[in-house]
Amino acid sequence: MPSADVLECPPGATSAPVLESYPARQATLPGELIVRRALPRSARRLVGPWCFLDHYGPIAFGVDRPMAIGPHPHIGLQTVTWLLEGEVLHRDSLGSEQLIRPGQLNLMTAGSGIAHSEETPGRNSGRLHGVQLWVALPDARRRGAPGFEHHDELPVVVLGGAQAVIILGELGGTRSPATAYSRMVGADIVARNDGDVHVPLDRAFEHALFLIDGDVALVAHALEPSTLYYLGTGRDGVTLTARRGSRLLLLGGLPFGERILMWWNFVGRTPDEIADARNDWEQGTRFGSVAYDGERIPAPPLSLRAQR
Ligand code: MN
Repeated sequence: MPSADVLECPPGATSAPVLESYPARQATLPGELIVRRALPRSARRLVGPWCFLDHYGPIAFGVDRPMAIGPHPHIGLQTVTWLLEGEVLHRDSLGSEQLIRPGQLNLMTAGSGIAHSEETPGRNSGRLHGVQLWVALPDARRRGAPGFEHHDELPVVVLGGAQAVIILGELGGTRSPATAYSRMVGADIVARNDGDVHVPLDRAFEHALFLIDGDVALVAHALEPSTLYYLGTGRDGVTLTARRGSRLLLLGGLPFGERILMWWNFVGRTPDEIADARNDWEQGTRFGSVAYDGERIPAPPLSLRAQR
């Protein structure tokens, strides 16, 4: 989770095609699950509305639960849970209880406040591999009611020898049924053959690529794993050279024109909002309760010194 300092995320300045690489850093979640955190990084806080990307696994495990994240609160964002292997059980303060498997989407809209837990179920496949993403909510929606959606099936776009599952937003004229509050794309691209893959892009969006598995090159530049490649805006498309079975995430969206603050599990606009949300969680108000057999996660100490 983000550091104790409030992280200031001003609107980005890039307005042209670029290629910038940002290695992920290692972080440890409650329950000791180790993740690679690709967003936010100090030099790249947002890609469109996407403000958080953790990649975990693949790990093989025995009887112990590798993921056991007790109840914790969110405000001002959507959480996007996307699995590549294994299962995760989601519970939230709206009463939702939802097991998610690869190819399915759990989308939780925090709005003014929600709490949830995420854990590997007791009977599980013994493998875990996935990504956890956050989308910043625009000002007009961020104080609204919380919500939760599960999608069993998502649309697939064929890109030559590759297939792209549209997780959230739109790609090449195909749109995910999941509720998005700004224009964006989040897609999982898998190469079915060796060769070139042309990915259509929206010129108005900024985009990034994140290699999950395999060998993919972008204009003779081999993509490293655990690295976010920021592509800027102003591209009609990008051509990748991929080995069969390779997999990568495409994230993008209209540059998020609002300056946001991130702290712990909160996305806000002012230090006071962050402090109020923290206080409400510690006091047991606002966020409701989650039917979870275990401890809720206490908020870390809050330092209102902004990290620029
Ligand atoms: Mn969460």
